[in-house]
Amino acid sequence: MKKILLIEDERNLARFIELELRHESFETVVSYDGNSGLERALREEWDVILLDLMLPGMDGLEVCRRIRESKATPILMLTARDSVTDRVSGLDSGADDYIPKPFAIEELLARLRVVFRRQDMIASDQRSILSSGELSVDLDARIVSRGEQIIELTKREYGLLLAFMQNPNRVFSRETLLDTVWGYDAAVDTNVVDVYVRYLRNKIDVPGGTSCIQTLRGIGYVMKK
Ligand code: CA
Repeated sequence: MKKILLIEDERNLARFIELELRHESFETVVSYDGNSGLERALREEWDVILLDLMLPGMDGLEVCRRIRESKATPILMLTARDSVTDRVSGLDSGADDYIPKPFAIEELLARLRVVFRRQDMIASDQRSILSSGELSVDLDARIVSRGEQIIELTKREYGLLLAFMQNPNRVFSRETLLDTVWGYDAAVDTNVVDVYVRYLRNKIDVPGGTSCIQTLRGIGYVMKK
């Protein structure tokens, strides 16, 4: 469920927006002034923050600037003042979008859907890239790289690397790696795992540096995050 923080001092308007958002199944929390809104914004993770410009105490622009010092949460500014200057300073302070008051609730919901769609796209982009230190694996393109350098891996080496990168900090026994990468019915000895870990290290590690894949003697292997 998407979590929305509404920072709005006009109680009737805040109540109205809150009910509409809950009706759309968004988890909604309201703060009625800038200071408590900022505190709430920083303390918890939100999918979007709806921020009124004119607030008692700290105003919306300042709240927005302070949130941006440490968080990239999408911020939609709500404001009655619909001048170009306000719009520009709202966006300058780090707001993602701007909705002049009065607005129809449908417009607000439409803007929220745009924000959420953008977030979901970014999230799915991130899901297709695995990274660990300088190493990264683009799962869609099946490209492994260290920094700028592309690393060519065989099918088994790639499978082995994926097992480690998809499970950082997990300690794998040789048997588990054999099952995961070669398959249950592979008629090969677990020594083959040691051989392939060596191949993989030769390709992915910085020469002379510590290996990405650590050996736990008598237990197996682990890639630390
Ligand atoms: Ca206000």
